[in-house]
Amino acid sequence: MSNAKKLQKELTWKFPTAFSNKKITEKAVNDFAAEYRKYLDSCKTEREFVTYAGSFLEKHGYREFRKSDYTAPSGKAETSGKKAPAPGDKLFFVNRNKALVMCTIGKKPLNEGLRITVSHVDSPRLDLKPFPVSERNEIAYLKTHYYGGIRKYQWVTIPLALHGVVAKDDGTMVTVNIGEDPEDPVFYITDLLPHLGQMQNELKLKDGIKGEMLRAIGATLPYRSDRDDGRKDDKKEDKKEDKRDSEDCVKDAVKLNLLRLLNEKYGFTERDLLTAELSLVPAQKAREVGLDRSLIGSYGQDDRVCAFGAFRAELEAKKPEYTTLTVFADKEEIGSYGPTGMSSDFMLHFIEDLAEVCHGDVNTILRASNALSTDVGAAFDPNFASVYDEENSCKINHGCVLTKYTGARGKSGSNDASAELMSMVSRIFSKHNVTWQIGELGAVDAGGGGTVALYIARFDISVVDLGVPILAMHSPFELAAKYDIYSLYQAVQAFYK
Ligand code: MN
Ligand code: MN
Repeated sequence: MSNAKKLQKELTWKFPTAFSNKKITEKAVNDFAAEYRKYLDSCKTEREFVTYAGSFLEKHGYREFRKSDYTAPSGKAETSGKKAPAPGDKLFFVNRNKALVMCTIGKKPLNEGLRITVSHVDSPRLDLKPFPVSERNEIAYLKTHYYGGIRKYQWVTIPLALHGVVAKDDGTMVTVNIGEDPEDPVFYITDLLPHLGQMQNELKLKDGIKGEMLRAIGATLPYRSDRDDGRKDDKKEDKKEDKRDSEDCVKDAVKLNLLRLLNEKYGFTERDLLTAELSLVPAQKAREVGLDRSLIGSYGQDDRVCAFGAFRAELEAKKPEYTTLTVFADKEEIGSYGPTGMSSDFMLHFIEDLAEVCHGDVNTILRASNALSTDVGAAFDPNFASVYDEENSCKINHGCVLTKYTGARGKSGSNDASAELMSMVSRIFSKHNVTWQIGELGAVDAGGGGTVALYIARFDISVVDLGVPILAMHSPFELAAKYDIYSLYQAVQAFYK
C-alpha cells in the first residue's frame, strides 16, 4: 500500500453498508421484514398500533402500571405489604387508546437514569370532516381534511380504505374498517384526464390538487325503496309506484343511500359521524420492492418502522442494566399537540409515578436519563440530488441513521444533540456491531422538519434522533430498506442492554 493510501485509510472515514455486516444474516433480516409487513398491514392508525401492541403485552409478562399496586412512599411499605418493582418486571400504560408506554425495570437504581426511546405511531392521512357525506351531481362524496404534511397530488387515483372509530351517544364505540379485505370496496379521489389537463398542467405542483378537492367517491346510486334492501315494508307491492314517485323528489338520494349502507353495516347515522374519528388511508398492503426484494414499500412507515424496532427490542428486554422506557406517541405529524402527543406530560407522569414506587428522585432520574428520539430520516434520492448534501445525507442500505440536529434554516426548532451524547451512542453501537450512519435532513436551504426530540429534551433528558432512511417520505407508499429496518431494531436492542 502506498503511503498516500495508508494515510487516506487512517485519516478519512466512510460508513460501511449494512449488508456487509457479518454479524447479521440475510435470513434474520428477511424474517424480521416478513413480520414487519404483517404489522404494517394491521396498524394503519395510532389506535390500531395500540391494539396490536396490546395483544402481545400479557404474553410477554407486562402488567398495567398502577401506582397503588406498589409500595406507597416512605414508611407505608410494611403496612401495605406491597413490593416495589424488581429488575426484569415489565409494566405498561395506555394513554387514551392512542399512545403507549412500556417499561422494563433495570438492575441499576432508577436514580442512575432511564434508557428511553420515543417513536410516533400516527402517520399523514385524510381525516373525514365532521359532516363528511356530501352529494354533488349525483355522486356522494366523503369530504376530508388532511392530517399531517402531505403532497396532495399523491393522494388521488389510489385505492383508499376507511379506518377509525365512531363514539356513539349511548357511550358505545364502533370500530370501522372498510377497504382492507380484498372483497371490500375501496374509496377513490379522481384526477383530471390528461386530455383536459392543459390548464392544470400550468399550475404549480402544490395547486394542482387543492385541499377541498380531496373528497373521495363514496357511492353513486340513489336510495330506492323498491330495491330489496332487507327493510320491512308490508305494503311495498301495492304502493310501489306511489313511493317511487315521492322518492324521486328526495333531495340527495345518493347521499341517503350511502348513509343507509353505513347504517346497515355499523348502525350509525350522520349525527354519529359528528363524534367520530374516521380516516382514509392507502388501501394497499406492504410489499417487497425490487427484484432483489431489498426494500419494503408501504403506507405509514414514518414512523411505524421505528416503532416496530423499538417495540420488538422492548419486548425482548430481560433484565437490562438501566430501566427501559419505550414510548409510542400520537400526533407527531401535526406538532405533537393534544394529550396523546409528546407535548403532553404523559411520559413525565409515568416517570414520576415510577420514581415514587421505586423510591427514586424524579429530577435526579431525568437528569441522568438518555433518550433516542426514534423517527425516520430522509434518504438521499438520486432523482432529487439537489435538495440533499450527499456527503451528509443518510443512504438506504447503510443502516440506521443518527441525526444530531433537524430543524429548518439555521437549525431552527432543533434539539441539536451534544457531542458527548453522540459519542456515547456511537460507542454503544460499535460495541454491539450495529451498522449506523450519520444524516442531515437535507441541503441547508431546501426546507426542514422536526421530531419529538425537543419534547423529550424539555424534561432535562439528553436526547438524540435515530431513525431509518426513507425514500418518498409522507407519500402513500414509502420505501425503506430491509437491512436498515433491522439495524434500527439492533440499535435499540444495544441501547437497552
Ligand atoms: Mn416521523
Ligand atoms: Mn413525518
